[in-house]
Amino acid sequence: MSRVHLVLNAGSSSLKFQVFLDDGADVPNRLYRGLFEGLGTDPHFRVTDHDGAPAGEERWPGQGAFGFEEALAHLSDWLGAHRGGHQLAAVGHRVVHGGPHFAHAVRLTPEIIAELDTLSPLAPLHQPRSLEPIRIIARRVPGLPQVAAFDTAFHHTQPEMARLFAIPQSLTDAGVRRYGFHGLSYAYLASQFPKVDPRLAHGRVVAAHLGNGASLCGYDAGRSIATTMGFSALDGLVMGTRSGAIDAGVVFYLQRELGMSADEAEHFLYTQCGLLGVSGLSNDMRVLREAADADPGARRAIDLFVYRIARETGSLMAALGGIDALVFTAGIGENDAETRAEVIGALRWAGFELDAEANRAGATRITRGEGPQAYVIATDEEWTIVREMRAVLGAETAH
Ligand code: ADP
Repeated sequence: MSRVHLVLNAGSSSLKFQVFLDDGADVPNRLYRGLFEGLGTDPHFRVTDHDGAPAGEERWPGQGAFGFEEALAHLSDWLGAHRGGHQLAAVGHRVVHGGPHFAHAVRLTPEIIAELDTLSPLAPLHQPRSLEPIRIIARRVPGLPQVAAFDTAFHHTQPEMARLFAIPQSLTDAGVRRYGFHGLSYAYLASQFPKVDPRLAHGRVVAAHLGNGASLCGYDAGRSIATTMGFSALDGLVMGTRSGAIDAGVVFYLQRELGMSADEAEHFLYTQCGLLGVSGLSNDMRVLREAADADPGARRAIDLFVYRIARETGSLMAALGGIDALVFTAGIGENDAETRAEVIGALRWAGFELDAEANRAGATRITRGEGPQAYVIATDEEWTIVREMRAVLGAETAH
């Protein structure tokens, strides 16, 4: 009987999942991709098969009590009916924070789960949510291997200078330092560099993960050297609804002058700012592009998004000592040719020369000339989780 891997990604009100055939191949054999959204309000389950065709859908309108527990029970029943005789070999989880110590994915035991829980103060909005499905599965199916793959782990190669804030050492020792996120995406890109262009595998590369969350990572020979996200996933670029880097003085202003509590200020900076806040219209790049000709707010939001990417790319070039390639990925990076053209335009000084036709046509390489090149590579964070899960469980069997 063949086996499958289940990959889970728990969000604040959603649970995304993908099912892969465990066939040992080095390209993904994805059977299903789906999600529960509206958990806690109007839960909705949707799944598509490997061709993207609908494979299931269900709604539970107004059932606010339907959470991860109910979603996982439903998923287990659905998988039982749709696995086609496959046996579930293991579950891999995207866990946002691995703290200062977890530099690789890890097999989950009660002790490790407890240790990951101690990192919750570092990511209070995300870490407890990531751990919930892990605990539920451990209780429901105690023998099933579970692995956590971390968004922070890829950045463990960064030099100390890239990780430090200018604060007393005692606070740094307590964990107040830069970690970086989107590591599962950056690890995937690094694995693809040699296939796209062998020079990328050895060169100085800046990758731009531009989705709802957005960050840049500077690689030297495929290893993370610096990144724009820091202590939290709030830092760095303008995002869909997050402010990105902001003077800490603004946070004091929000509290002192506008009377916000710490939680309210955090909620504001995570959910009301970024493209949404600047445009006053939407966090969705497609909506902003449609509106930009007639709506100055939409135009300003896009211009600030691009300006910050170009400026932070310059900062990463300083950390890398130059640049050989820029790589675009995620929802905006993979699909929005205009954003790519504008970023490359803002980086002409660094020698980038846009190939407008290749960019519009969705080619992999979108620049020409003798200078540094820009590429588009579709990311696959779930496949990174499967590969890391195989490495962890394979190493255990080998011992
Ligand atoms: P998440 O971080 O939630 O995974 P995604 O990587 O899916 O986000 O990126 C979402 C963003 O990608 C949204 O701003 C969306 O507008 C943008 N996007 C998706 N498709 C397109 C497109 N064809 N053109 C422009 N932007 C797009």
